[in-house]
Amino acid sequence: MKKHARKLQSHDPVCGKRINRNKAHIVVEYKGRDYLLCCPLCQAEFEKHPEKYSR
Ligand SMILES: [Zn+2]
Repeated sequence: MKKHARKLQSHDPVCGKRINRNKAHIVVEYKGRDYLLCCPLCQAEFEKHPEKYSR
């Protein structure tokens, strides 16, 4: 049986780094989805170009 539970992506869309969700990270909401960012720099970049990183 396949598991297809929808879960939050676990990679930083900006730098591609894997996010350990047990550790501190930044969550940005964009168009109703939550995106995990590893650091304020990636957050700033994401917020500059959300369309580029949200797909
Ligand atoms: Zn990052």
